[in-house]
Amino acid sequence: MARVLVLGGGFGGVAAAFSLSKQLTKEDRITLVDRQDFFYFGFRKTWAFLRSSPIGEGMRPLKSLAAHGIEVRRGRIESIDPGSRSAVVDGERLDSDAMIVALGAQWKPETMPGLAEYGLNFYDGLSLDHTAYELAEFKGGRVAIVIPSQPYPCGPAPYEAALLLREYFAAKSVEAEIHVYSPKPMSLPVVGESGCSVLEGSLSEAAIVFHPMHTVERIEEHKVRFETTVEPYDLLIGIPGHVCPQVVIDSGLTDGGAWAKVDPRTLETDYEGVYAIGDVVSITLADGKPLPKAGVFAEAHAKVAADRIVARLRGETPTATYDGTGYCFLEVGDGKAMLVHGNFLAEPRPDVQLAEPAAKHLEAKMELERSRLLEWFPD
Ligand SMILES: Cc1cc2nc3c(=O)[nH]c(=O)nc-3n(C[C@H](O)[C@H](O)[C@H](O)COP(=O)(O)OP(=O)(O)OC[C@H]3O[C@@H](n4cnc5c(N)ncnc54)[C@H](O)[C@@H]3O)c2cc1C
Repeated sequence: MARVLVLGGGFGGVAAAFSLSKQLTKEDRITLVDRQDFFYFGFRKTWAFLRSSPIGEGMRPLKSLAAHGIEVRRGRIESIDPGSRSAVVDGERLDSDAMIVALGAQWKPETMPGLAEYGLNFYDGLSLDHTAYELAEFKGGRVAIVIPSQPYPCGPAPYEAALLLREYFAAKSVEAEIHVYSPKPMSLPVVGESGCSVLEGSLSEAAIVFHPMHTVERIEEHKVRFETTVEPYDLLIGIPGHVCPQVVIDSGLTDGGAWAKVDPRTLETDYEGVYAIGDVVSITLADGKPLPKAGVFAEAHAKVAADRIVARLRGETPTATYDGTGYCFLEVGDGKAMLVHGNFLAEPRPDVQLAEPAAKHLEAKMELERSRLLEWFPD
């Protein structure tokens, strides 16, 4: 009997546990641990604060993974010992033959001082109701969407939020001027100059003002202090910067770096039988930029890690590798989405494109959620 421990029941952890369950035998034990007892897709947060669809519609209890023979353990992971492939959960040590660390990225309000006092946030699940309420009460004026200098999941999400907000305000006849501030020289560096000009063209068509090269220092009442200027706002939405969970840093898996260190193709850490996947890892692309933090990458990583674990447990040489492909949808309103897609690990530079808005891309996003929820959570 083999024991596999999956730490984290988000996009990557659930995909990994599911893939393991399809390949291991009934005698093998797959344990998934999460402090929450439910799962939903990250993009539900955008739909929730805009009140276009409630989180509950896409929420599933992790315990229904039991239908695949996965043991779900609710608890806080207090420490991880990759050397012995064990973790302490609510005071109890869990041992394993192979371990997948999928603890995601932790949002940190301190990365944007003043955000909690003066701004709205749609990355924190607990703030969604408040954000939705404040938005509904907003009578018009200048809206600022502020992107942090630290990494955050889903690079396109702030731009998507801006474009959907335009539609939201128009439907309510609220006069709003929307501004997006980014510390980067272009909107979505991973899609290159041509992709950015498509995205920035869409923002401009929607009368959304994009301000590159604006590094936020702090949010104050009715003004944002950037490194080089101060800008006014009536309503502010800030994207908090994200960091690696402390329990992963303390485990040594980051090897002194900011995120878990892995081989980009195998997702193996420096510890035998221990993998790290999804938002908790940092993978540097050929052009020096980081692999975006997105659920589809977490899922692709999950399949590679699961396949390699199964091969090793069968005494075979693992061959599964991550090919670098991935995609992400960016809703633009009017029932359409753009598609960011390509090979992010291509050499000598990532080969990533941004496809023009189309209804079929939004349908594909909905289908992504529908199909995974149906497959992973059968009841
Ligand atoms: C607004 C928004 C829009 C997005 N849109 C998209 C999109 O369109 N497409 C896309 O691909 N991605 C999107 N994403 C990103 C996507 O949600 C993440 O990249 C994805 O969830 C990462 O998966 P993960 O498994 O690495 O981490 P997560 O899904 O964050 O899972 C980590 C899990 O670990 C658990 N955990 C952490 N620490 C502990 C601990 N100490 N003890 C116990 N449990 C712990 C957490 O509870 C969590 O369930 C979006 C994200 C946001 C916020």
